[in-house]
Amino acid sequence: MLHNDQLSQWDRENFFHPSTHLAKHARGDMPTRVISGAKGVYIEDRDGKKLLDAFAGLYCVNVGYGRTEIAEAISAQAHELAYYHSYVGHGTEASITLAKMVMDRAPANMSKVYFGLGGSDANETNIKLLWYYNNILGRPKKKKIISRWRGYHGSGLVTGSLTGLELFHKKFDLPLDQVIHTEAPYYFRRDDLDMSEADFTNHCVQKLEELIAREGAENIAGFIGEPVLGTGGIVPPPEGYWPAIQAVLKKHDILLISDEVVTGFGRTGSMMGSTHYGMEPDIITIAKGLTSAYAPLSGSIVSDKVWKVLEDGTDEFGPIGHGWTYSAHPIGAAAGVANLKLIDDLNLIENNTVTGDYLRAGFMERLGDHPNVGDIRGVGMLAAIEFVEEKQGRKFFDPSKTVGAQVSAALAAKGVIGRAMPQGDILGFAPPFCLTKDEADIVITNTEMAVREVLG
Ligand code: PLP
Repeated sequence: MLHNDQLSQWDRENFFHPSTHLAKHARGDMPTRVISGAKGVYIEDRDGKKLLDAFAGLYCVNVGYGRTEIAEAISAQAHELAYYHSYVGHGTEASITLAKMVMDRAPANMSKVYFGLGGSDANETNIKLLWYYNNILGRPKKKKIISRWRGYHGSGLVTGSLTGLELFHKKFDLPLDQVIHTEAPYYFRRDDLDMSEADFTNHCVQKLEELIAREGAENIAGFIGEPVLGTGGIVPPPEGYWPAIQAVLKKHDILLISDEVVTGFGRTGSMMGSTHYGMEPDIITIAKGLTSAYAPLSGSIVSDKVWKVLEDGTDEFGPIGHGWTYSAHPIGAAAGVANLKLIDDLNLIENNTVTGDYLRAGFMERLGDHPNVGDIRGVGMLAAIEFVEEKQGRKFFDPSKTVGAQVSAALAAKGVIGRAMPQGDILGFAPPFCLTKDEADIVITNTEMAVREVLG
């Protein structure tokens, strides 16, 4: 076995890591952690340190680590047929079965699922489908896409543009012109502190109406949103938000993409986040929870309405010119089948509501009165704690103080992973669905200690 020093040197010399301070990493100014194994909600590094992963990797290992049922399904598939493509109507038992399982779990008006690899490429697919759709319908100008500030939809050219976080635009010449952003549905960060939640929803709706009026509905193809803002801060929508937004979109014939890369397959406590919040999307993006990250796989679920136009389009113009070599990869599909079955067999979605509520209640009890804890929020197996310098008047910390990152580091030192969300001082939690109350207690206790250590 290689020594850790050797690995660390090779890492610094050869490995270009995503979302990393490249210079600090190359210079060895930041710690590298080499993960060597995992079981349940715990990961272990090569130094033998065990950490309770209360973010499930990147909110993706939903069934928890070390599930032999999925590992065996992957192994069996690799032995039988590691790869064949899915172009021109080819399939495998795994990919066809998974398509059926996904559609059985999707809202009733959904028609088919297209498989990709990750959330970013699925959203790239979705935008292309909207453009194709409007071209087929003879509306070549109806192409712009509305996204929200603080939305996260990926790191590609269009998807990085859809993402409404500064870090993902800065120095990349993004967003592209076809993408426009509207108000984030983030009640805690409203400008007018006297505004009620319902009034804030009306304010978001008004901002959307203004944007549509400015750009012209005839130029706007779609609106994309996560049912619950994820990377932008783990923010459930304000009261009545989705039905009100949906009504505006319907009025202007703007299609809705529900990006369920995080919320799909149970994280909110419902099978789909869109159903949880009364959304009626035309397209749903799925990824992480589809395989619990045991293998890369994503999907774009299209509604009957969209499918009908796509069908007509290929009758008129020939096969759709869109495909990835690894679309519906048999190994990812086998992982997906085993994963969705496990979620059902173990009743994991139910656990999200029960244990997730318990986790948030614990945070509230232990930290609700802390002078620097401005907000504790979440839904299902999602939670966030937002820090403020002063509660009165909701004064935020100067970002240079990196309070969120410090609390997250203090928590990791105590053996629990909570993620410092990239914009604001927000500590995020998205544990595996199998988290027990005892494990939730460990998260709560250590979070309280970490917060008090950093903030007093
Ligand atoms: N959409 C949402 C809501 C996400 O949270 C993410 C990733 O975190 C993506 C899309 C992009 O997925 P990927 O990183 O697999 O490309």
